[in-house]
Amino acid sequence: MAVERILSSVKPDGLVRNRIGEPCSRYKSKFMETSVTGKLNLLGLDLAAMQSFFSDLGEKPFRAGQVMQWIHHYGATDFDAMTNLSKALRLRLQETAEIRPPQVELDQQAADGTRKWLLRLSDGNCIETVFIPEADRGTLCVSSQVGCTLNCAFCATGHQGFNRNLEAHEIIGQVWAANRALGRDPKGERIITNVVMMGMGEPLLNFDNVVAAMKIMLDDMAYGLSRRRVTLSTAGMVPMLERLREECPVSLAVSLHAPNDALRNELVPLNRKYPIAELLAACKRYVEGDARRRVTIEYVMLAGVNDSVAHAQELVKVLDGVPAKVNLIPFNPFPQGRFERSDQATIDRFRDVLMRANLTTVTRKTRGDDIDAACGQLAGRIQDLTPRSQRLSRRILSA
Ligand code: SAH
Repeated sequence: MAVERILSSVKPDGLVRNRIGEPCSRYKSKFMETSVTGKLNLLGLDLAAMQSFFSDLGEKPFRAGQVMQWIHHYGATDFDAMTNLSKALRLRLQETAEIRPPQVELDQQAADGTRKWLLRLSDGNCIETVFIPEADRGTLCVSSQVGCTLNCAFCATGHQGFNRNLEAHEIIGQVWAANRALGRDPKGERIITNVVMMGMGEPLLNFDNVVAAMKIMLDDMAYGLSRRRVTLSTAGMVPMLERLREECPVSLAVSLHAPNDALRNELVPLNRKYPIAELLAACKRYVEGDARRRVTIEYVMLAGVNDSVAHAQELVKVLDGVPAKVNLIPFNPFPQGRFERSDQATIDRFRDVLMRANLTTVTRKTRGDDIDAACGQLAGRIQDLTPRSQRLSRRILSA
């Protein structure tokens, strides 16, 4: 492994930063996880990585499962609590490794029970994670990047700029922290039943770390969620969809928001690189071979922009032959936002056109908007590296 290459990505401020869109090798990401304290943060290792860590220590692979259970089932952060490991091994782990979750900086609860945590990362940036309780499920909305490079016109996260990709331990750390804050259900039921990668950032631009974290979500040694209950939402990074299908085929949601390229180019600039036809063809391939699977098409309802009956009819046409269900999302306003939410009658009319064409359509309830926890309102507290973020965004569009 070329150490020079790793070191060349260490910026003058001493922090190792991941480069967007470029897969980082397991070794490289391990190295980055050790960069702040000199110790490897075991929180972010999936089973395979944990096994290779223990085999490097000359230990049996089953130690990996034991330690994952301590971390993710019991919330342990101290190796001394791990009583089924020998004292010698615990000491060894203390010397080389750590379990360091993000710190809860703020814990807010909305009138409807939605909860939002502002989590502080070791470099001082803060990200947001939201828990949405419903009668039959509890959904955690997880962030994948500090900010976002994509600049979708209607999204608060994009407006605030971009700083960096989250490490795997910072992604799964959100599940860990929420799990701990939510406590145990008195009847022993799961509280977090679903995870959606719909917080800050574009998950497919941080592929390796997101996949490692999702593998931990799915692992019985950790959160044991079925892959249908973990959903990744993307603005349409077409080339990564095939890899996702191969490496971690969770449920897929796609932020479409417009039925034609002219409009989508304006709302989701990434469309200029991967237009609708390519995106929907990739969606079809994603669910191919599984008759029960459907892609969720997300469509934010913007008054007078994309919400007419004609838009609905065009959407029906464009989704013809795509195994899809549609989620209509009433636009959630944020300061600097230049759009307005479609009124209820308009949303209902739009929905009816889709339903008449046999497209399953759900209007998403707006949750947690009194604490800015609704879709598109997450902004965290990030140090914007905007000139860099603009450069990256140009690079994605022109690559
Ligand atoms: N980058 C990913 C995931 C993050 S956004 C993606 O684009 O899918 C999660 C969902 O919230 C997306 O469908 C996004 O388009 C939507 N969204 C963003 N801003 C919104 C807003 N202001 N109101 C309602 N939904 C919004």
